Amino acid sequence: MLESLGIEHGFGLRDAERVLPPGLLYPRQVHGAHVLRVPPLSPEAQADALVTDVPSVAVGVFTADCVPVLLADPQGRGVATVHAGWRGSALRVAEVAARTLAEALRCRPEALVAAIGPHIGPCCYEVDEPVRAAISDDSVFTGSDRAGHYRLNLFRLNHRHLLDAGLRPERIDRVEGCTACDGTRFYSYRREGHTGRLPHYIRCPA
Ligand SMILES: [Zn+2]
Repeated sequence: MLESLGIEHGFGLRDAERVLPPGLLYPRQVHGAHVLRVPPLSPEAQADALVTDVPSVAVGVFTADCVPVLLADPQGRGVATVHAGWRGSALRVAEVAARTLAEALRCRPEALVAAIGPHIGPCCYEVDEPVRAAISDDSVFTGSDRAGHYRLNLFRLNHRHLLDAGLRPERIDRVEGCTACDGTRFYSYRREGHTGRLPHYIRCPA
């Protein structure tokens, strides 16, 4: 949907750091739910989502298993980018970002469009009891062979949070791919440990 609206954006693959758009603004990510409106963005600023309504400004996040979410107003008046791992998802960072973008544009959240990018799927994402306890939605967990462990569906969780913010399901796209399954295309913290980061960005139209 972002393509058809002509809004420049990208979900990065391995080695995409080398082709980052010039002037990209990205935060120091801390697995929280703090959303910043930019510019300006100080180098020390900590956040897990950026919102901008300044024409031509590009905002980004970096991930290696966490969920990247891009948001835009269909008229191109503003965009947002979100980094959501389990901690940020437990804090509903995607919902907070969608609400912040709608407030910044004085529009209703159901007007917004979103895309959820590649991240670690429930096929590979086993979590333990503290993670389950931090997330109130039982429907995003399925059983695991290991006692005291569960498989977490981060797509379903973030999709739910965007719906809770007021987005319409037909305006939420998904770019498929499990970062842990597909080592040729993606970096994965779970699979590789210390590794690179996939860059994702969206640019506010000029
Ligand atoms: Zn997988």
